[in-house]
Amino acid sequence: NNVGQITADMIDMLSKKAFPLCMQSLHVSLRQSHHLKHGGRQQYGLFLKGIGLSLEEAMKFWRIEFCKLIDVDKFDKQYSYNIRHNYGKEGKRADYTPYSCMKIIMSNAPGPGDSHGCPFKHIDQDLLKQRLKTMNIGDQYLDKIVSEVKTGRYNVACTRYFEATHKLPLEYQAQAISHPNQYFEESQRASNG
Ligand code: SF4
Repeated sequence: NNVGQITADMIDMLSKKAFPLCMQSLHVSLRQSHHLKHGGRQQYGLFLKGIGLSLEEAMKFWRIEFCKLIDVDKFDKQYSYNIRHNYGKEGKRADYTPYSCMKIIMSNAPGPGDSHGCPFKHIDQDLLKQRLKTMNIGDQYLDKIVSEVKTGRYNVACTRYFEATHKLPLEYQAQAISHPNQYFEESQRASNG
């Protein structure tokens, strides 16, 4: 595994290409508002743990961003427990695993002000389409993505999005994306040859 190889300062770069749309959205939202609500911190925090961000680096990552808005004392009181908890250092010391697509798609739908969830499922279809267009997703991919969304095959839409952003032929992926960390690993493989 990658533990220790991923540092806080690599995340901006990695998020642009190697993160699935759900995690990219969380990252952008965090950078813009210097905050994420609980659902977002859990979904994103566990994903980052899964790609190999150590507890120390995770603490640094969240602290730097949140402390653009709040002071360090408040951060340590309100947020650091939960981060350590996710790494099994508090409470019942369970080693929490990152959420699968199924879990993200089927449970805890985002409410107003939330940034978590699966964009293919939880964002209005017209907005999603607009957003994909601004990302220069080619029309042939866009049509496929939208038609998968319409039939409720959200993770297949995500797979087509993977192909579009990695310049792979449509329906190249033998296996549909079923986990955000699988997406990350496949992306690393595709870029490193
Ligand atoms: Fe994230 Fe999975 Fe949705 Fe893709 S299908 S955006 S990896 S939750």
